[in-house]
Amino acid sequence: MKALCYNGKYDLRVERVPDPEILNPRDAIIKVRKTAVCGSDLHLINGYIPTMREGDIIGHEFMGEVVETGSGITNLKKGDRVSVAATIGCGHCTYCSTGSYSLCDNSNPNAFMPEKIMGDSPAAIFGYTHSFGGYAGSHAEYIRVPFADVGMFKVDERLTDEQAVFLGDAFPTGFMAADMCGIQPGDTVAVWGCGGVGQMAIQSAFLLGAERVIAIDREPNRLETARRVGKAETLDFSKVDVLEALREMTGGRGPDRCIDAVGLESVDDSVQYYYDKAKQFAGLEIDRAIVLRQAIMACRKGGTVSIVGVYAGFIDSMPMGAAMNKALTFRMGQLHAQKYMPRLMEYVANGQADTGFLVTHRMSLDDGMKGYDLFSKRADDVMRVVFTP
Ligand SMILES: [Zn+2]
Ligand SMILES: [Zn+2]
Repeated sequence: MKALCYNGKYDLRVERVPDPEILNPRDAIIKVRKTAVCGSDLHLINGYIPTMREGDIIGHEFMGEVVETGSGITNLKKGDRVSVAATIGCGHCTYCSTGSYSLCDNSNPNAFMPEKIMGDSPAAIFGYTHSFGGYAGSHAEYIRVPFADVGMFKVDERLTDEQAVFLGDAFPTGFMAADMCGIQPGDTVAVWGCGGVGQMAIQSAFLLGAERVIAIDREPNRLETARRVGKAETLDFSKVDVLEALREMTGGRGPDRCIDAVGLESVDDSVQYYYDKAKQFAGLEIDRAIVLRQAIMACRKGGTVSIVGVYAGFIDSMPMGAAMNKALTFRMGQLHAQKYMPRLMEYVANGQADTGFLVTHRMSLDDGMKGYDLFSKRADDVMRVVFTP
């Protein structure tokens, strides 16, 4: 089959690779119909997350059609249209059985790798380095889905393929960001980053009862989408002092809940950015944390900082004094997609939320490198590129 493979930093190639096969009774093989680029793929391609190998198939946001199931799959059958969780959970360990699928104890066969730098291993993620399981990703004609009985969901017929492709990653990540905030009626929620996840965090914050959402980015089209689709108020961080503006907009208190939907490659024009960038370049710091620091400084006393932007290693100049003395609550994590997917599918089906607007570019898999190039440069008002293999 055809697949988009990693061949080194910023080098993706379409290659011929062997078709996937059923290896375990709870596997399924999916013919991929739509697969999207995600901001966290850029961290891999830009070389910030180690243990990628030449020939690895990337991609973790996808939907498709079941073509084969293992003997242990009884809830889905050949021909079903499905959306698949980006994180892989066994469904039965202590973590999965309490809904924390991204902490699954059983899905990562390379658990020893993250254990060395994190103390323990999170769940595996499709197409996301060998530390995260080494599973083949979704930018291919076919993909093997392990534990398919818990990770795959039949798509409601009211949803289009382009709506369904975001049910396994962007929407549950954005929703979890808002859910972790513990939003109370009347709350103001600030969201840093208006890419796919940020846009879905905005909609989710309102679904969970926020009164106001303030979205922060510098790309005019992303800010415009946040206003038009998300009904958020917006701040352009290249034009205003974000801390000052947030304070002014919230009667001097600061937002009640702050969501970091950016992660380790945050940018701005401050001295701090160049400091982080230089340290990152020299290998002295793995992650740039401009957004996280700003969220901590902006958050009102006793508020919540919720992190879904990806961090991979170490950061410095963390304003821990501010966090501690303002009694902030920190919540964070990779998405527990399986926990949220049925609920989110219903939101989209009944029109309470939308995901399809995230698609700005449609390409064939052959244009994979072009798609990622456009996406990484945020060129041509791109939000999400969707490939049809
Ligand atoms: Zn993702
Ligand atoms: Zn598990």
